[in-house]
Amino acid sequence: MTSLVAEHLDKVRRSLPNGVALVAVSKFHPVEDLFEAYRAGQRIFGESRVQELEEKRVQLPDDICWHFIGHLQTNKVRYIVPYISLIHSVDSVKLLTEIERQAARLPRVVDCLLEVHVAAEETKYGFSSDECLAFLSDFHPEEYAHVAIRGLMGMASNTDDETRVAADFVTLKRLFDEVRIRFQWPHFDILSMGMSHDYNIAVREGSNMVRVGTTIFGERQY
Ligand SMILES: *Cc1c(COP(=O)(O)O)cnc(C)c1O
Repeated sequence: MTSLVAEHLDKVRRSLPNGVALVAVSKFHPVEDLFEAYRAGQRIFGESRVQELEEKRVQLPDDICWHFIGHLQTNKVRYIVPYISLIHSVDSVKLLTEIERQAARLPRVVDCLLEVHVAAEETKYGFSSDECLAFLSDFHPEEYAHVAIRGLMGMASNTDDETRVAADFVTLKRLFDEVRIRFQWPHFDILSMGMSHDYNIAVREGSNMVRVGTTIFGERQY
């Protein structure tokens, strides 16, 4: 008998074109649900809180790629740096500097995305497009030998207006292309955009990594 999670997962997978990676966003869902997704072949899971991630990780198989997608406090960086596959939510230079510092101690190279804020809602987190370009123009990879900036992550405005949502994704895609053309970093190749309610639009506008929670696991119990 296939589980509901496996069924939903299969549906999402079948709706994604080749080349678009699926992050199963499992925050607030119990370990049993993650196991069901794992048994259905899912290997990339996204979590947004360090303590929850730490608790789940030790209960689940080692071949899972854990992605961190929430706001990350600098004092928590050291817990996840040894094993994290990708940090989507680098929203300040201070945070990137701390990731570099902790990764250098191991040493390992940690893949990171810069979080860019394009949505209508106010938020404390993320670079504006201009800040992102300004930061990268000043960026000296040799000073950050233990981080690899692999791309960008962003969210669209929280609205039913699909035109606005699409416009936000287009803004992110343009910024992504501009960085690629300007800096020609061979490993800058991930554009993480799209969630349960808007990943189809995101994929249409050029996303190659979607972060889907509710559609796979159901509503979160906070
Ligand atoms: C929670 C979360 C998601 C998943 O949201 P759903 O609507 O449940 O698909 C995606 N990205 C980020 C950054 C999140 O915090």
